This record gives sequence, structure tokens and C-alpha cells, in this order.
Amino acid sequence: MTQRRGKTDRAAVAYHCGMNDRWIEVADRVWARRLEELDQTLGLVVGDECCLVIDTGITAEAGYAFATAVRELTDLPWQVAYTHDHFDHWFGTSAFGESAVWAVADGAHYVASGDGQRKRWAAKYRQDGREEEARRIGASRLVPPNCRVSGAVGLNLGGRTVVLRQVGLAHGDNDMVVEVPDAGVLFAGDLLENGAPPSYGSAYPYEWPQAVEYLLSWRPPVVVPGHGDPADYWWARGQAGDLAETARLCREVAQGFVTEEEALAHGPFGAEATAAALARCRELAPPPPEPAPAPAASPGPPPPVVVYDVFDYSVDLTQH
Ligand SMILES: [Zn+2]
Repeated sequence: MTQRRGKTDRAAVAYHCGMNDRWIEVADRVWARRLEELDQTLGLVVGDECCLVIDTGITAEAGYAFATAVRELTDLPWQVAYTHDHFDHWFGTSAFGESAVWAVADGAHYVASGDGQRKRWAAKYRQDGREEEARRIGASRLVPPNCRVSGAVGLNLGGRTVVLRQVGLAHGDNDMVVEVPDAGVLFAGDLLENGAPPSYGSAYPYEWPQAVEYLLSWRPPVVVPGHGDPADYWWARGQAGDLAETARLCREVAQGFVTEEEALAHGPFGAEATAAALARCRELAPPPPEPAPAPAASPGPPPPVVVYDVFDYSVDLTQH
């Protein structure tokens, strides 16, 4: 069953949203929302009683545009899931009002991390000459999660249950994916990116590939990445292999088995992503500190004390 309410006049939406932002229905009542900005991919899963919104975009305005688009498909109450704490995945949540917001990291973490990211990304957008977007990022009200996911949580949307699953260490230290078992869909967050190299800035390059392999063990036919077009299991499997090859190159550079130049030339995601992965590995495992200077040369064991038998030659033994 597909609900298309069509209540909203698109032309009336005053918020910024890319002209080519669009829905892709990837399975029965499961949608991916493709955005021009950052080539991002948000998600929507609709049950009989409520719907789950997966990530919310980079600003409150982007969130309003997304919420409006969701209301084109369903008027059921919503809950929100954050795949992780990077700003583009949750700065739009204020548009969704009071609702359950699921995430792996707690609210305090999101507030602290969001505050720093808001300043950093506003500065970056301003530097890129995108003043209006910078202002919006700076003004977005942060909505920390209020429902914590530890391990896996089954969320009943009415007639269908989705699984919110904590994974990683991987793309970061608070990754969560959303599985829709009855439709065979995996929303992978930024553990997978289609059309751009994965982002290693706060990643765990050695652990990341195993996390993806684990996620793919149920062979979901549809895999929705955090950026880029939805794809299938075989595409995801290919990217898991590239993540593993990148991890291997990082390890071999650390061991001195290949040079950094060789790794940059042969990394499957290209030189820039490989350099980021190598830098992140160095950051996570800095070279061991110089060995402490040896203590001043010890004098060694004292020379043996030789005790000579003292024999008094003056004693006349014959006297006894
Ligand atoms: Zn991310």
C-alpha cells in the first residue's frame, strides 16, 4: 500500500530545497530522498501506524523541505533515526517537532559535537562563498536524540518492524543503520557512499570493513548509502572489498611494507581518501614514544671478595 496524500502544493514551499531533490521508492513503502546538497540520501519507512524518518539534512530549512516532502507521501506520525552525529544527518530535525529521536550516542554527546560542527561548517560554507547556507547552518537549532540505541532495537511501525542497529567502530564511533527486513532494505548511513569516496575524517579504517561485512551478512537486496544513489548487495560488497583493501594498505604502510606513495597511487578510493585514511590511522595509533634513556651505566656487580685462608706459619704443629 502506498499512501500519497498530495496535500502540499510544492510551489508553496518557500524553504530552500534543490530543484532536483526527489524521492526514489526502493521497496514497498520504503523511500530514499535524494538531495542535491552534498548528494545526500535521506530515508523514509512507512508502517500502518507510524513512519520512520532516517536523517534530516544540513539545516532547519532543509529539514522543513524534507518534512514537507514526507507529508506528500504519508500523514502518519513520525519518529526520527540518526545514522550518526555528522551535521548533515541531523541539523534539520527541528522541522519535525516533538518526536522520538533514535541514535547510538547520547544527547550530551550530540549537543557538544553539534556545537563544534555548527561553527566549523558555517565557517566552511562562508569560506566557499555560500553565505546564506552558512547563516542557516549557524542558526539551526540542534535537536539531540532522546531514545538511545544500544545493540539492536526492533521498532514496530504498525504491521512492520524495522531494526535500528548499532555498528562499528566504522565511519565513526556512533554509527547506526536501519534494516527493513520485510522489504530487504538496508539504510547504511555513511558506512557506504555511492559515487564518492567514503569519508575517513573521523573513521576507524581498520575496523570499518568488518563492520560492513557483518551488515551485509543477511544479503539485503537494496542498500541505501548516506550519499549517492541506492544500489544493491553486490555494489555494497564491492565497496566492502575496497574498504578492506584500504585498511590493508594502511596496515602495510604502518609496517613499512609499502611506502605512503605506493598506497596513494594504488588505494581503491583514490589518493585523497587514502591520504585521509592514513592520517586517521596515524592519529589513532601515534608512533610509540621514544624509549626512555637507559639508566646511567651501572657499575656492575662488585668484584668478588676473595678470602684467603690465613695460615700462621709460626705455629709449630708438631707441638700437638
Ligand atoms: Zn558522516
